[in-house]
Amino acid sequence: MTTSAFVRFSGVTKRYGDLTVLDRLDLDIGWNEKVALIGPSGSGKSTLLRMLMLLEEIDEGLIEVDGRPLTHMQGNDGLVRANERYKREGRSRIGMVFQNFNLFPHMTALQNAAEGPVSSLGLSKKESHARAAELLSMVGLGDKLDHYPAQLSGGQQQRVAIARALAMRPQIMLFDEVTSALDPELCGEVLNVIRQLGDEHDLTMLMVTHQMGFAKEFADRICFFSEGKIVEQGSPEQVFGNPQHARTQAFLRAVT
Ligand code: ADP
Ligand code: MG
Repeated sequence: MTTSAFVRFSGVTKRYGDLTVLDRLDLDIGWNEKVALIGPSGSGKSTLLRMLMLLEEIDEGLIEVDGRPLTHMQGNDGLVRANERYKREGRSRIGMVFQNFNLFPHMTALQNAAEGPVSSLGLSKKESHARAAELLSMVGLGDKLDHYPAQLSGGQQQRVAIARALAMRPQIMLFDEVTSALDPELCGEVLNVIRQLGDEHDLTMLMVTHQMGFAKEFADRICFFSEGKIVEQGSPEQVFGNPQHARTQAFLRAVT
């Protein structure tokens, strides 16, 4: 029993109708830890990230960030609802980057990255633009500040999306198959940015990925999902080098 978890899922269950998507899931993630979630399509990986972002209500269980519950206990109607105060506070600690970059098409790279801090953190436009420009330089787009999404490659757009998430000063970054929509030659530039973030910043990171090579190199821990449960987890050496569970073995044989 450890008390040092930064993010803790305890007995978290999520159902859609009859389908149990997450089944009494327990997961502790340490401060600054890098965790890769792998597993077959439909096993609940994205749902886990979405629940941490509070994009979904949970049916049972508790999610805590830094010792504080993101969620209430069960209400009279049987649903576990987010605690509004912790919800705001918790969500502000978390940035998420999706498969499809979801940039505002009518805004430049700079405007996209600067928008959130002005509307949500109350930063002045000047401060926010300065910070956005700095972050865009960090992801290698210092010369593209005034470009619109349509004028950028997929890899560049995804790097703008990463800068935009970072502009909110999150402590936790969630990445959901961020290279899946990219041509293979553009994946490297995005993965390099993520690698650099992990190396140079105190960020707790959860990443869903199908790129086992990257997961192996990037993650402190690999969690293998199957049917709403983590059936196996461990260091990359353990999980990739010596998988114990038959489902992990079958999955890794199929994808590598
Ligand atoms: P993964 O990311 O591992 O591929 P997901 O977490 O996206 O899996 O989905 C897990 C399961 O939940 C899938 O069977 C999916 O079809 C189902 N699911 C996800 N979102 C919804 C929803 N909004 N309504 C109904 N079923 C959903
Ligand atoms: Mg998914």
